[in-house]
Amino acid sequence: MDKYLKAIKQNICAICVDSNEKGRCTLNDKEACAVELFLPQIVEVIHKNENEELTQIYKNMKQTVCHECLAQDPDGYCYLREDANCSLDRYFYLIVETIQKIDAGLLT
Ligand code: SF4
Ligand code: SF4
Repeated sequence: MDKYLKAIKQNICAICVDSNEKGRCTLNDKEACAVELFLPQIVEVIHKNENEELTQIYKNMKQTVCHECLAQDPDGYCYLREDANCSLDRYFYLIVETIQKIDAGLLT
């Protein structure tokens, strides 16, 4: 999982609106980033759906990761997603691309 985390920091945190100019996360202890919190589940969904379209991977991600996340209510509504405040949702396509590049040996 370390290689995925490293690549996420280099490719997603670096451009995330919640990071500083050095790419360091500015969230405090009471805030949690779903990308970090659920990274193993995110990687698993991407691996299980490697031949699926991105839209399908997105749907499956919501069904698994968002289902586990406390920010989503029983009706499937997430205030963070609504406000474009979830990094997993905001950078979803870049996250998938980054994990797939790692798997293909295109990133180290
Ligand atoms: S919110 Fe998540 S993706 Fe954004 S900088 Fe922090 S850890 Fe990285
Ligand atoms: S979109 Fe909402 S429910 Fe899904 S991971 Fe992000 S914060 Fe959690």
